[in-house]
Amino acid sequence: MFESLSKRLEGIFNNLSGQGKLTEEDVNAALREVRIALMEADVNLKVARKFVERVKEKAIGANVMGSLSPAQQVLSIVNEELVEVLGGSDGKNKLDLSGNPPNIIMLVGLQGSGKTTTAAKLANFLTKQGQRPLLVAADMYRPAAVNQLKTLGKQLNIPVYAEQAGADPVDICVHSLDYAREQARNVIILDTAGRLNIDERMMQEVMNIRARLQPQEVLLVADAMTGQEAVRVADDFNQAVSLTGMVLTKMDGDARGGAALSIRSVTGVPIKFMGVGEKTDALEPFYPDRLASRILG
Ligand code: GDP
Repeated sequence: MFESLSKRLEGIFNNLSGQGKLTEEDVNAALREVRIALMEADVNLKVARKFVERVKEKAIGANVMGSLSPAQQVLSIVNEELVEVLGGSDGKNKLDLSGNPPNIIMLVGLQGSGKTTTAAKLANFLTKQGQRPLLVAADMYRPAAVNQLKTLGKQLNIPVYAEQAGADPVDICVHSLDYAREQARNVIILDTAGRLNIDERMMQEVMNIRARLQPQEVLLVADAMTGQEAVRVADDFNQAVSLTGMVLTKMDGDARGGAALSIRSVTGVPIKFMGVGEKTDALEPFYPDRLASRILG
């Protein structure tokens, strides 16, 4: 996917280079390729169109700078706009732990998105930053989720709060607050209900936990490989529980940068982390400029 975008741009820009100035036709030809490539990378049609419009306005109005070829100039505007749309200048891509401790990070998402793994990765990441996280097993729908989290916690030497099967997820989260205080833990990571599909009961449960616990961060864990589906899931969760951020997982695979661009553009929810593997250290803070370069190749 990424290769195809950069190759297309390269091709069109090679044809453009050598000319003295950036004409409207040059820009149009280049942008047509950008739009096609974005759509091939699974960027939503509306988002691709809007993006191309923004680039066009800037490109046509821009003075050709002496040191840059027209090709480089268009490429630089595309890059700048990508970074901008991905949240490059708004500073919202960082995790906010500025509340009174314990700060609560609630993870939501569909089954299989990588939510439980991400809970452990996040705990590991925060531990390395000198925080003292507590993991809370509140996904009572996927039978293996509680044990999976306990195993990961043990590996990382990070405590996991869990209760018996059948316990109420809201109660579990509430009880975990006392446990965190007892254990002098300053960040609580809640692994909440995951289902194969969004349904009302699941959303209601997630809404109840959000209302009761008032988490500082509500992060949607979404599988980048699911493309347009991830955009729809992000939109639904955002409307129901008003997300503070996203973790895009499986960006190590044949992941589509397009999902990141579409999600940010459609929902406005900042992407805060990327999952880049199955291991507990395979989590990276999200840097818009890095993803932009990766998309452009
Ligand atoms: P949950 O149902 O959302 O809690 O999903 P899990 O945490 O159990 O993850 C589902 C599968 O995705 C597991 O096999 C994980 O190892 C895998 N997984 C999670 N995150 C990533 C990632 O960033 N990259 C890759 N390659 N696999 C991941």
